[in-house]
Formats: sequence, C-alpha cells, structure tokens
Amino acid sequence: PPRNSNAVRDIASVLHPYTDGRAHQKNGPLVITRGEGVRVFDEQGNSYIETVAGLWCASLGFSNERLVEAATRQMRQLPFYHGFTGRSHEPQIELAEMLLERAPAPMSKVFFANSGSEANDSAIKMIWYFNNATGRPQKKKIIARIKGYHGVTLAAASLTGLPANHKLFDLPIAGIHHVSTPHHYHGANEGESEEDFATCLADELEEVILREGPDTVAAFFAEPIMGAGGVIVPPATYFEKVQEVLRRHDVLFVADEVICGFGRTGEYWGSQAFGIQPDILTCAKALSSSFLPISAVMVNERVFEGLADGSESVGTFGHGFTYSGHPVPAAVAVETLKIYDEMNLVAHVQSVAPALQDGLRQRFGDHPLVGEVRGRGLIAAVELVEDKAARRNFDPARKIAPRLSKIAESHGLIMRFLPGDGIAFSPPLIITEAEIHDMLDRFGRALDELQVQLRR
Ligand code: PLP
Repeated sequence: PPRNSNAVRDIASVLHPYTDGRAHQKNGPLVITRGEGVRVFDEQGNSYIETVAGLWCASLGFSNERLVEAATRQMRQLPFYHGFTGRSHEPQIELAEMLLERAPAPMSKVFFANSGSEANDSAIKMIWYFNNATGRPQKKKIIARIKGYHGVTLAAASLTGLPANHKLFDLPIAGIHHVSTPHHYHGANEGESEEDFATCLADELEEVILREGPDTVAAFFAEPIMGAGGVIVPPATYFEKVQEVLRRHDVLFVADEVICGFGRTGEYWGSQAFGIQPDILTCAKALSSSFLPISAVMVNERVFEGLADGSESVGTFGHGFTYSGHPVPAAVAVETLKIYDEMNLVAHVQSVAPALQDGLRQRFGDHPLVGEVRGRGLIAAVELVEDKAARRNFDPARKIAPRLSKIAESHGLIMRFLPGDGIAFSPPLIITEAEIHDMLDRFGRALDELQVQLRR
C-alpha cells in the first residue's frame, strides 16, 4: 500500500522510466528525500546504503559542497550558452582538454551530449558520416553484443542487446547485429578454458563480419564490463582477440565507458583494464558524478579528420543538441574530475576493492543460492541460482532477484536486480572499507532471509 501522501501523489501523476504500470500503481514508490555520502534517506528518515550509486553513477555519493559551488558559480556567471559551431565557452573547453589528457588512447576531439544514450546515438551518426565522407557509404553496419546495454533512444536501444528494449518497438533498426555475450559461466562449453572461449567469441565475430561483408561493417560497440546486462566480466584475452579481428577488417572500436569510466573497474577507464584501444569512446554518469546530466564522445584523429573533411565533400555534419556542452554541467564535470585527481581515485578504488570483491566471494561464494560472484574494482554481481551444480537459474516468473532486493530494503540497502537473477554492487566510489563491510553484512542478512522464505 502507498506509504504516504507523496507516494499517493506520485501514483496519480508520474509515468516512470521502465514503468511496471499496474504494480507501481498498487505499491507506489520509495520516495527519497535526502542524501549524505553513500547513503540516501526516505520520507520517514530511514537510511539506506545506495549499493549501486543510484544508477551506477553517483560516484562521489549524494552530497558534495564543491559540486554545488561549481554549479552555482557557473549559473551566476553564465547560466547558458550553446556550443554550435563558431561559439564556445570556457567550461566545455576546459572539460574537453581534461578528457583528452585522461583518455585511454590518443584522442583528438570531444563532442558533448546530455546522456549515455545520446552519446551513443551521436557516435553512430559520426561513424555513418565518417564513412560517407571517406567515400564508403555502404560501410555502416554496426555490431554490438547480446546483453550489452547502450541506452534507450532508437539507435542506442538497437545497440542494446536485451529483449525488453527491442521487442515492442520494432527494434533493432536495420543494420545492427548482435554477437554472443562473453560470459564464461553460462556461455562456455563444458571444460572450455577462458582463453578458448575468448577465441571462440572472436571467431564468431569474424564470421559475422565476413558473412555481412567487411566493406559493409563500420563499427563494434562494447562496454568493457557489461553493466546493466548482468555485470559480465569478459575473459582476460577477449578484447585483445576481438581487436585483432576488427583491425583486420577496418572496423572501428567504440568503447562505451558510461559505467566503466572514471575508476569503476579499478583503472581510470575500463578500456585500460582490458587493453582496449578505442577509436571512439563514450562516457556519461560519473563524468559529473551525476550532479547534472552530461555525456561525451571522444574521437581519435582519424575519425576527426573524416568529420572535418566531410563538410567540404558531403556537407555539414547535421547533428548537435541545444545543450551540447551546457556550461553548468560542464563546470560540475570539471570540478568532478579535479576531485577525482585529488582523492587519487584509481588508488582509492584499488585499495577498497578487495573488501568488496574478496568479501563477496569469501562470504557468499559457497552460499547454496549463489551461482557466481563476479566483478572487478567497485563493480560486482552476485547471481542467484536454483541449482548450483547445474548453474540453473530460478524460473524468471518467481522474480527471485527482485524479491531479494525488496528484502534488502528492509535491511537498509537499496539494491538493483539484473536480468538473469543478478544482484548488482556498484557503490559510490567514495565508499570506505568499513561501509563495504556494513553493506555486505546487511546483504548477508537479506540473503539468509530469502533462503528461509524459499524453504517454507
Ligand atoms: N551505456 C551504458 C553502458 C549504460 O549503462 C547506460 C545507462 O545505464 C547508457 C549507455 C545509457 O545512458 P543514459 O541512461 O544516460 O541514456
């Protein structure tokens, strides 16, 4: 039943992202009123550790005066100006410089948008334009992966490899193909090593490129670690093998760093964790620690040259948002990146990550309901199974992971369940070891409670 008047007002007025319609109408939302560090508070004053930093994004947590000041300072000085060609302002210039300095591979220019979806849609348009401008208009197919998540606008949703984002929307759009998920636990043959599994996946990718015709395949999109599709960590050599295939067929690599960027995996970029040398990189979320919406697309020199020359040969690159590089979120992002430097972000994540990764494996790896614990840095998932030996999940109709995340709420955790009965961990990067222990204690109590309920 609705908890309070705000829940009632919500039910009467708000249409939610990923709405579950009638269920929401019946149960109402948990209304959050305030944040502090890694915690948020509801209307009754109950406190919760936000185990997924909201939506994998509030990297500096839910309170930060410096970001508030950066936003208000910029709002007073210049609350808005656009960056359409011929116009600019300092926040976007400084942010572009900072991103280029930090990029995991040599990058030439930065384009700004407002969300991860917009960044990925923009990358697709740049690739199509680039191939038009370089005399290869037929080279426009794009390969992504089953269970990859790249957003919900029409092109980004097409890249996404999850049925819910396609099936009722006539997606994917033409020319977008999906290859297998690099998940050894479910995808490998009996006894197959991670290395052989990675070779198999690279072979499959090459078969798709050859089948479609290399002169028609433009780009491959991948998250270094798949996030929303299940926190899937690929075999160590997977991306090395994939990149060999892409290079052979002149297919661009787009790294979707929307979740993995900015320290999440224990490296500054997820690309660095797996030896990825992207041609194009998209990022969002932790770019501004989510205090304001902003995303970015970095392109290397070759892609930039194509874009730049194209205006003469094929016409203007007709794409850009009113709020591309908006000065207020850009100023907040600049301050966010400065804070990351000062807190020594990568070293901090590496120092607390074992409390999460080893803690999850030691405490829950042998639990009868846990099939796999996976992750790296400060991103992880626990996958629930009905039959541990057979690696068999529960019947999805039983909604086991949603049930566990609901139980976890009563233990002071806001958790996120994933397709395939995963439960995600992606806390604010400022989390301390003590807070990680507290989070895992609470999770353990919730898991035990679920087990008791299932035995009944
Ligand atoms: N790419 C990845 C890897 C994501 O995780 C997300 C969102 O979760 C997106 C893209 C889309 O970002 P947005 O929701 O800001 O459009």
